[in-house]
Amino acid sequence: MRTFKELFRAIDGDGDARHKLRSFNISQRLDGKAKSVKLLAESLGFSVRAMELPRGMAGRLVRDAFSDNGFEIQVNQSYSVQSQRWAVLHEMGHFFRKHVDRSDYLAADMFLDRSSEAFYVDQKEEVEANEFAAVVLYGDGALEAAKSLHGANTTKLAKVFGVSEKSIEYALKKFT
Ligand SMILES: [Zn+2]
Repeated sequence: MRTFKELFRAIDGDGDARHKLRSFNISQRLDGKAKSVKLLAESLGFSVRAMELPRGMAGRLVRDAFSDNGFEIQVNQSYSVQSQRWAVLHEMGHFFRKHVDRSDYLAADMFLDRSSEAFYVDQKEEVEANEFAAVVLYGDGALEAAKSLHGANTTKLAKVFGVSEKSIEYALKKFT
């Protein structure tokens, strides 16, 4: 999956959500600076918090009766900024790809950590959440555009997208 068209077929999100996701992707081309995934998530109704989490847990999606969409994204504050940014997009992926039941806001707290092997739940859902993150960042030619501007310099590209060099290396294989 490399395009928003494909992603939109797979996600549950209204027109407003789709517009915001696509706008985020496009906004990355403006000035070569990584855009805030926290602001994106908040604009989509999540609350976002960096906090202490168990070792090996990059992030998790938990029910939050006070956020606009009923969920809070928590990321591990001891992880790198790049990892925290990825975790925010990854957890958003679990939400939009319908891995959580959004209909019952009063359901018991359900900790949906799937961000590490230790708390591993479902490989298919992990792949889907990462796919979501990758398309939002790199899809619709975003990575190709950055590559034509900066070359295949992974250090530079990692900075542009605010991700790890490893993520860029993987994305270059998949998206260009
Ligand atoms: Zn996950």
